Amino acid sequence: MKGWVDALANRGKRGGAYSWGTYTSKPYLSMNFEGTLNNVSTLAHEYGHSIHSYLTRNAQPQVYGDYRTFIAEIASMTNEAILMQKMLTEASSAAERAYLLSSYLDEFRGGFYRQASFADFEARAHAKVEAGEALTA
Ligand SMILES: [Zn+2]
Repeated sequence: MKGWVDALANRGKRGGAYSWGTYTSKPYLSMNFEGTLNNVSTLAHEYGHSIHSYLTRNAQPQVYGDYRTFIAEIASMTNEAILMQKMLTEASSAAERAYLLSSYLDEFRGGFYRQASFADFEARAHAKVEAGEALTA
């Protein structure tokens, strides 16, 4: 996986975290990793997207290789859950486990409602287009 991940902050580097790639490239992952719990979770999340894309591109012809954001989040959120399960298993105290669980539940709540909001937005936008209405800001 050498060269697939650009995790360290660098001058001029774009902010945020994302996974990108095509049928003729590796899946590339970019983020600004600073060692926080949130960064570790974000890295696992983006790896989920990269692995999903990699497996899709190796199993499906390009015509079937596109997928909706809602589907893409299944792989990334599953990766976050696997990470959390490992961290909970390796936690050395009840306080650490409580912190991890609190953090995870907060992230999960945010992720769940954010993805549901994206799906709702897509459904409304498609409904307007199908009804012949214009999409405006
Ligand atoms: Zn995602």
